[in-house]
Amino acid sequence: MDNKRILTGDRPTGRLHIGHYFGSLRNRVKLQEEYETYILVADVQALTDNFNNPEKVRKNVREVVMDYLSVGINPEKATIYLQSMIPEVAELTVFYSNLVTISRLQRNPTVKTEIAQKKEIFGESVTYGFLGYPVSQAADITAFNASIIPVGEDQLPLIEQCREIVRKFNSIYGETLIEPEAMLSKEKRIKGLDGNEKMGKSLGNAIYLSDTEEEITRKVMSAVTDPNRIKKDDLGNPDICMVAYYHNLFTSKDEYENVCKECRAGERGCVACKKQLAKDIIEYLKPIREKRKFYEERPELVDNILMEGTKKAQIVAKENMKRIKKAMKLDYFEDFHI
Ligand code: SF4
Repeated sequence: MDNKRILTGDRPTGRLHIGHYFGSLRNRVKLQEEYETYILVADVQALTDNFNNPEKVRKNVREVVMDYLSVGINPEKATIYLQSMIPEVAELTVFYSNLVTISRLQRNPTVKTEIAQKKEIFGESVTYGFLGYPVSQAADITAFNASIIPVGEDQLPLIEQCREIVRKFNSIYGETLIEPEAMLSKEKRIKGLDGNEKMGKSLGNAIYLSDTEEEITRKVMSAVTDPNRIKKDDLGNPDICMVAYYHNLFTSKDEYENVCKECRAGERGCVACKKQLAKDIIEYLKPIREKRKFYEERPELVDNILMEGTKKAQIVAKENMKRIKKAMKLDYFEDFHI
């Protein structure tokens, strides 16, 4: 491996929630200590299925950056940048589109699943842009020579697609690009308050890092519990209760075991159990909320961090692009700059 550069990021389609926190953000805070970290705010990718709602994407750019900063992403250690301000990514996407077939993209399991989930947006016929987003992800990765990509299992096919593009590029134009490796996340996906396997912005079952104490309490009080418990002394089953599930995430091991024991023995009321959980989540997220408040009151500081990161990223991508264009025989005039 030639470097220890990591690339990761999020689509700015909403504020980030505890699913993001346990699934990736917490890990990124650790990774930034060990790896050269680039974090992209993927506004262009967000437009692939929000092309008719640019305001939503724009308004969430700062929200996502504030979430990063509140959980402990340190702009001194990690470069946070805006995808749309790196024109090299768009340029590479065009070049790479010659190296991948339409049928290969259609067979990509991640893309297939997402297209099926987005039927209300695309109907029976998906756009060229959405079908091709793995190509632009390959551009994101290679524009920065990133060698390690932290992903969940469901995203592995995207990395494989990128590796194929890299191999094809190198076989035609000579060894130029680094073939990235996936760093598979050990974190498990966090379920939603309604018991859905996925916590999602669009599913309305998420607790956001920026939620107020009142919002957290309200959401926890509506979480799905064991439906067979009517009275406090009914014997419960914590294994099918989302409140117990979250106790496991936010409270100590001893406390979690106590919750399960009392629930099974019919010694714990669901309302009290939920109130305790809400209190624990509020306490757990307090430092994040406080840090977020600091940045919410200083939007110019947030914008500045994003701008500085983007400037740094622009320099890296530009330099890298020179090598790539040279390999493709597209380096016509050495000193010609627009
Ligand atoms: Fe769930 Fe707690 Fe009620 Fe048991 S007592 S069903 S763990 S909310």
